[in-house]
Amino acid sequence: MKRKTRLFTALLCAALFLAALTPARGQAESVPGDPESIYQVALLQSLAQGHFDGITTVGELKAHGDTGIGTFEGVNGEMIVLDGVVYQAIWDGSAVVPEDDETIPFCNVTFFEPDVSVSLTDIPDMAALQERLNAVVDENGVNLFYMVKITGEFSAIKVRSEYKQEKPYRELDVALAADQTEYDYENIRGTMVGLYCPSFMGGLNSVGWHFHFITEDLTRGGHVLQVRVGSAEAVLDATPGFTLALTDDADFQRMDLSRDMDEAIHRAETATSSDTAAADEAEHD
Ligand SMILES: [Zn+2]
Repeated sequence: MKRKTRLFTALLCAALFLAALTPARGQAESVPGDPESIYQVALLQSLAQGHFDGITTVGELKAHGDTGIGTFEGVNGEMIVLDGVVYQAIWDGSAVVPEDDETIPFCNVTFFEPDVSVSLTDIPDMAALQERLNAVVDENGVNLFYMVKITGEFSAIKVRSEYKQEKPYRELDVALAADQTEYDYENIRGTMVGLYCPSFMGGLNSVGWHFHFITEDLTRGGHVLQVRVGSAEAVLDATPGFTLALTDDADFQRMDLSRDMDEAIHRAETATSSDTAAADEAEHD
């Protein structure tokens, strides 16, 4: 959709679709493919509480989007969906292409349609990058979703993955504090895929930006912790719709999803191993 038409439509019919569909075999299924909707599987809050069981498959996911981010059963690596291909950046930093029957406990995808782009040069850190992207969001509407692809040269980027978790699962921040792996790259070409969630999404996801990265040769990747952009182009897809796929899985139904997970989610999304070591030291002082 062209931007003007899209924003007009968004004003008319911006809608939050809570599609809790009758699942087969405990898996989320729905009518595929609205390009004007962000398709989300489960909640970041359920992932944060340790619900790492997959509730949909890679094959099913591809019917709902060609671009996005997420993770895999047991938090077995970071998901990057780019140009219709699902990549899995596993513990050793390498990116592999999972089979269609691999399952997914949490993800967000959409069919990417470029609406607005912005050139980025010498962006010193994550805060400055988010500030630049927020300017675009301010101009186009803070209460929409945005999927972004940032492609170019990264002067420095720190990404993480993690070892696959086994049952009984720990909460996400605890699992990551123990089992996170980190990789630093310099002067590397690639694409950051990111999602912006508006402020009202606090109970379902995390508000603001969340980025994953994959190298241009599609062989390495992870969840972005720190970044310095040399020269890149950010292309944003403003998206007015939201589709949520849940599960009747008994463990999922037992969770108290009203619990405030904000701090734990912030830790899980941003903590580096040196932050974790510093926190451990402070605790033992
Ligand atoms: Zn992530």
